[in-house]
Amino acid sequence: MIILDGKKLSKKIEDSVKSDVLVLKEQTGRTPGLAVVLVGNDEASQAYVNMKKKACDRVGFYSITHEMPETISQDAIEQTITMMNDNPNIDGILIQLPLPPQINTNRLLELVSPAKDVDGFHPYNVGRLTTGLDGFVPCTPLGVMELFKEYNIDLKGKNCVVVGASNIVGKPMASLLLNADATVEITHIYTKNLKEHTLKADIILVGVGVINLIKEDMVKDDAIIIDIGINRAPNGKLVGDVDYENVASKCSYITPVPGGVGPMTISMLLANTLKSAKLSKKD
Ligand code: NAD
Repeated sequence: MIILDGKKLSKKIEDSVKSDVLVLKEQTGRTPGLAVVLVGNDEASQAYVNMKKKACDRVGFYSITHEMPETISQDAIEQTITMMNDNPNIDGILIQLPLPPQINTNRLLELVSPAKDVDGFHPYNVGRLTTGLDGFVPCTPLGVMELFKEYNIDLKGKNCVVVGASNIVGKPMASLLLNADATVEITHIYTKNLKEHTLKADIILVGVGVINLIKEDMVKDDAIIIDIGINRAPNGKLVGDVDYENVASKCSYITPVPGGVGPMTISMLLANTLKSAKLSKKD
């Protein structure tokens, strides 16, 4: 069994982003810029934004966080996004989800300029992904694809079962796998007898948010397991959606939590922001 080391790969990607930033600065005098919208006091959201900001600092990006109260209006957030769309120092705009219930999230995601949509959530970029065109791809599934590349895992013809069908994880993950010529099945909370599906999988990719959802008897020998879930266990530890202790020995490859997909997500955000900065220099 081989552990897919996202921590190590993300460091490698960060180093490459960092040196590209220096070159870009030298050539154009400009630094890639990321703007984050953070609404309310959700602890997990604050922690994620903090990690993203630290990563920006490490690679030499300019970054700004627009912190807004839980009671903020739709109009006020829209004004901020419009301002960032027009700001030439900003290459990437990220709206930290989830947002409070009074906010229409989809309307905000559609307001972000597709050219600065480094999270890849705008329908324009979603459409480009599903048609196999270049664009911005959501960071978490993109990070998984980088792991496959790093470990020379060929996806062509593989039976992949994606568990979880959200717009930010499962659906874009499925599109990327399909674009890589895998055979893809998407499962979700209403899927009947999940085990029947996962047992057929060469690769299981799970991003659900349920501790120990994927158990030993749901995985065939030598399967590849990508655990995208992040959960806080009752003992305070971070765990994924896979019963790692009992599943790992059956697999050919597996991602740990923490240290697997999580760090890759952050480095893909950096890579997407750098890509946007490079593209905008060509205008
Ligand atoms: P979500 O709530 O938007 O979607 C969850 C999906 O899981 C839904 O499609 C739902 O139908 C499915 N689901 C729920 N219970 C299920 C069950 N018992 N069996 C099968 N399917 C089930 O969540 P999300 O935003 O997509 O996040 C999912 C998980 O991925 C969470 O644990 C989140 O913390 C994690 N996540 C990790 C990263 C990362 O960087 N590693 C990034 C984003 C999300």
